[in-house]
Amino acid sequence: MRVSWHERFSESPDVLKSADRLQTTVPVLDLEIGGDEFITMAGPCSVETEAQLMATAHHVRLAGARVLRGGAFKPRSSPYAFQGLGLEGLKLLAKARRETGLAIVTEVMSECDVPMVADYADILQIGSRNMENFALLEAAARSGRPLLLKRGMVATIADFLRSAQIVLDNGNPNIILCERGIRTFETATRNTFDVAAIVLLKQISHLPVIADPSHAAGNRDLVPGLARVAVAAGADGLIVEVHPHPDKAWSDADQTLGFPEFDDMMASLDPYIALRQDLARIHHADLTPALEPVG
Ligand code: PEP
Ligand code: MN
Repeated sequence: MRVSWHERFSESPDVLKSADRLQTTVPVLDLEIGGDEFITMAGPCSVETEAQLMATAHHVRLAGARVLRGGAFKPRSSPYAFQGLGLEGLKLLAKARRETGLAIVTEVMSECDVPMVADYADILQIGSRNMENFALLEAAARSGRPLLLKRGMVATIADFLRSAQIVLDNGNPNIILCERGIRTFETATRNTFDVAAIVLLKQISHLPVIADPSHAAGNRDLVPGLARVAVAAGADGLIVEVHPHPDKAWSDADQTLGFPEFDDMMASLDPYIALRQDLARIHHADLTPALEPVG
């Protein structure tokens, strides 16, 4: 017998769609994530220098991004790799917001840092490595800031939804789910982009879902293609790594787009974004069975 998604994911009931809760929109400054507008978040993997960040912020804004990304606290696999500028990086992000009006998303890695990061950021990013750091999730949820929750690299969709449920349980309804690729046997790409997760999450959850094609691909040549697939799958937005000199980026250089590549990607997304109203209707027809009780 076909078990309903609501039975399979019954441990996280509040993140699931219901007849009276079809879609959450997350307010961020003058934006709504999960609403009609497709939201692109873009910027460097790490905040490095004022010149790097400001150039990127101005460029991505002109190309249509609405949120600036940039890590000030970096979860690096090697202890010897650049760990981020910390508070100095947060201040540069706040300066970029003042100059461009872009909202800021940046990662918080430790519950101790939540108040400080929340002072500077509009959206707190919970990184893949911390998706199940429940103390951090609770502290970040209680800050009242919207959270961008990245899927753990070895997390199932059920694990992902349970983490989102914890944020809701701590009184914060403003969660953006982010599919950023999972670990599989495949080594040709950095991670395996789980496009089915986007389709499924859009069917069963009312939370906005965005895609991170940069960390999924690990290779800049694949990023625009994965971005287009994400729009077609029904994603509400994207988060993409961009740098004025991508080969010189202090982190994630291989997957980072330069300005011309970012512009080309944004232009290539236009026809897909134009189809979003139609796509939403098609996806909505698909989800009707997911909302029906099994009988
Ligand atoms: C990042 O956004 O730079 C990052 C470290 O992402 P993830 O947590 O998905 O690896
Ligand atoms: Mn990165």
